[in-house]
Amino acid sequence: MEKPPALEPLREDWERALCVVAHPDDMEFGAAAAVARWTGQGKSVGYVLVTSGEAGIDAVEPDRCRDLREAEQVESCRLVGVTDVAFLRQPDGVLEYGVPLRRLVAEQVRRFRPDVVVTGNFRETWGGRNLNQADHVAVGRAVVDAVRDAGNRWVFTDQLAEGGGDLEPWGGVGEVWAFGSPDSTHAVDTTGTLDAGVASLEAHGAYIDGLGWEDFDPREFLEGMARQAGQRLGTTFAAPFEVFPMGWGE
Ligand SMILES: [Zn+2]
Repeated sequence: MEKPPALEPLREDWERALCVVAHPDDMEFGAAAAVARWTGQGKSVGYVLVTSGEAGIDAVEPDRCRDLREAEQVESCRLVGVTDVAFLRQPDGVLEYGVPLRRLVAEQVRRFRPDVVVTGNFRETWGGRNLNQADHVAVGRAVVDAVRDAGNRWVFTDQLAEGGGDLEPWGGVGEVWAFGSPDSTHAVDTTGTLDAGVASLEAHGAYIDGLGWEDFDPREFLEGMARQAGQRLGTTFAAPFEVFPMGWGE
């Protein structure tokens, strides 16, 4: 079998990261151990959940599910050192890429003023034949566009002080990083923080039970993925990311 290409270490010369994902559990299936490493270095990391995953548990109706999953997400964040968590409460399962979603994400970028923005894989697949999920694709596309919108003082002007809002434009995001992408070129060494990442996924207990996957073991699952990426980075464990530079002409 052909050896997968080596991954480069992801930059760590930054202070603030905003993670914007579609669902509670998205960060925990790919990036929570990386977040634990970053918060351990004293960096500030915020989470934005576009939906509350209320359509994610077959046996629990959405109104009850929303509360349950938001509570699980807050605990899951606490376990990796994240206390700034926003829920945008958009409809789970039927998100649409478009200006309304870009507007919501741009507002969060202007509020948090991050150096980097993290989102989930929004490529068509995960690298095999299984297609990605529609909300993930919509959110990732909206995130890269909203990062540019956030820096433009003539876009979504009602959010800005000059337009009656309480925010300023923010053009400080250098890169967007998509975890779990089949086109990953970089990775974060998660050898020292994989346990925190596992605990963060285990905090989604009601969701994991609701999946009904026979014998699903969060540790085994995350270790398997992290070991593969680690082999490409030259560490025991790692989390892979695709890097999108937010400048022009790169
Ligand atoms: Zn998801």
